Amino acid sequence: MIQIKTFYFNDLRECTYVLWDETNECVIIDPGCHSNTEKERLEKFIESSGLKPVLLLNTHGHFDHIMGNAFVASKWHIKTHIHPEDKPHLERALQYSDMFGYKIDEPPTDTSDLKDGDILKFGKSSLTVIYTPGHTRGGVSFYSKDDQFVITGDALFAGSIGRTDLPGGDYDQLMESLLGRLIKLGDDVKVYPGHGPATTIGQEIATNPFLRCE
Ligand SMILES: [Zn+2]
Ligand SMILES: [Zn+2]
Repeated sequence: MIQIKTFYFNDLRECTYVLWDETNECVIIDPGCHSNTEKERLEKFIESSGLKPVLLLNTHGHFDHIMGNAFVASKWHIKTHIHPEDKPHLERALQYSDMFGYKIDEPPTDTSDLKDGDILKFGKSSLTVIYTPGHTRGGVSFYSKDDQFVITGDALFAGSIGRTDLPGGDYDQLMESLLGRLIKLGDDVKVYPGHGPATTIGQEIATNPFLRCE
């Protein structure tokens, strides 16, 4: 069974997730750790829990989700996995973050491509990649069928959805990702978004004003 630890990192309170199972192999999703204190918090958690990071996954390439890529990749010698459509965000990460007034460590661009339907294995567990563009061109979600949760990045939030006004954003595409894909995972599936608290698909169908189907 997969266990999940959530960190809220950097000024944008971005959700960084550490997932592990009984083998203690773990994956780190969207490391947004920026300050040294945040990097230490992540490191201490992983070391003190006896976890072994084996994958670095990005739901998308926005700078608040990749600020800690350089730290995580070099600390644990693991490769970044991202959808190729969002790789330009990594390649231009210093420019993008500078535009928003942030200095970040340059993320590695020697990455592995994610595509829809990929199965990512760690320990005795696996995650399925679901392509959910719209917030960015290469947005993906990570779904565990066995443990009934999905990590959505900035596609879906509790009570809201991702913005589509940034470069590469597309409202119709995002709605297709949400209505055509994510909500079909089923009401009981727990949602871990890129910002804010966890929720469930059922809760969002019932209350999220952006998910009206008509
Ligand atoms: Zn984003
Ligand atoms: Zn974000």
